Amino acid sequence: MDRQQEFVLRTIEERDIRFVRLWFTDVLGMLKSVAVAPAELEEAFAEGIGFDGSSIEGLARVFEADMLVLPDASTFQVLPWRDETPGTARMFADIRLPDGSASLADPRYVLQRALAKAADKGLTFYTHPEIEFYLFESKLRPDGQPVPVDNAGFFDHVPRGTGHDFRRAAISLLESMGISVEFSHHEGGPGQNEIDLRYADALSTADNIMTFRAVVKEVALAQGYFASFMPKPLQGQPGSGMHTHVSLFEGDRNAFHAAGSPYQLSETGRQFIAGILRHAAEITAVTNQWVNSYKRLWGGAEAPAHVCWGHNNRSAMVRVPMYKPTKGQSTRVEIRSLDSSANPYLAYAVLLAAGMKGIDEGYQLPPEAEDDVWSLTDRERRAMGIDPLPASLDHAIHLMEGSDLVAETLGEHVFEFFLRNKKAEWAAYRDQVTHFELDQYLYRL
Ligand code: GLU
Ligand code: MG
Ligand code: MG
Repeated sequence: MDRQQEFVLRTIEERDIRFVRLWFTDVLGMLKSVAVAPAELEEAFAEGIGFDGSSIEGLARVFEADMLVLPDASTFQVLPWRDETPGTARMFADIRLPDGSASLADPRYVLQRALAKAADKGLTFYTHPEIEFYLFESKLRPDGQPVPVDNAGFFDHVPRGTGHDFRRAAISLLESMGISVEFSHHEGGPGQNEIDLRYADALSTADNIMTFRAVVKEVALAQGYFASFMPKPLQGQPGSGMHTHVSLFEGDRNAFHAAGSPYQLSETGRQFIAGILRHAAEITAVTNQWVNSYKRLWGGAEAPAHVCWGHNNRSAMVRVPMYKPTKGQSTRVEIRSLDSSANPYLAYAVLLAAGMKGIDEGYQLPPEAEDDVWSLTDRERRAMGIDPLPASLDHAIHLMEGSDLVAETLGEHVFEFFLRNKKAEWAAYRDQVTHFELDQYLYRL
């Protein structure tokens, strides 16, 4: 046993922890949990805990249903919303096959593989997500519409607002679990909030995002609401994005930073952005994985629909934010296409792979977009070489299917499962006869 594992066992005793949940994530980004008794942990660290993986989305074919979960001791945290004694704690776990090898279907492993490739070149990938979500009353309207908890807007201070209490409670819980929060505020939609996590290496960030979703849902339930990370829950209101600021570090040097160059952005940073842009369309099915994701991307309200970059240009998909000299080498790149219900492990893996490809192949960065790209005509955008992002899940899947980059990054198993699953989602959606169609055509035709 290593020192971290010993620390876990000691803490469990000292804090009277009776239940230890092992968390992992399925291919679609849903959190899974299996509770083990503390007495089992020593064995779990040594060889994993067996479970039947056949009913977890994307995990196994029926003939290889036996799997192991191997807890990662460095992620141990006591769950603060279960503060009764005996207490409950959790660790993230890696999924292994019976022979001890990593499961190719484990999204955490997909990201670990992508990070290891960058590490071979001496680079560490840091990410800082801005997570948007809606708070709704626990009861839906009779017509099935969710009811936002307030009517406020961007950065509004709502006297006695539900949002304040909510954000305060959520942030306290997150911080007590070692997840630092940088900013939080009311977002543009009624009941919409944003909480930004401090930057960390991408694997920790992805784990933190999974924890964040669980915490936010718990706090909402405790306060009599529910929280939703759906990309576009309300027609005519902003969607929920998960803009992510990224940077690559070489040791303690920010490889995106070059003092004195435009926006303090290094050649490596420019090539990384060029990689993201060149591969943007083919990775969109992963960063925006639901039918509903495309209603956000194409719904305006500061969500990006076109492949371009800019400086402080909120209509661009990639933005180089204002540089603050007081923050040292803080040069970073904000990717604005992702939404709040992406699988963070897979999304960060494909973003990193696209950016690294730009660096490896020395891609040239196209000129920056200075206009509001939404207000240009299709023709103007074409003349400037600005392509649209896919307009539907169907289109995105089609582009992903032809992508060597995505196939290589996800690995064959996840790639095939994902395509199959998403095609089925699209087919089910296409089959619907919607309210819109009945309104438009029933009496007219
Ligand atoms: N809600 C917007 C989106 O869907 C982003 C608003 C903002 O700039 O923070 O991406
Ligand atoms: Mg925001
Ligand atoms: Mg942002």
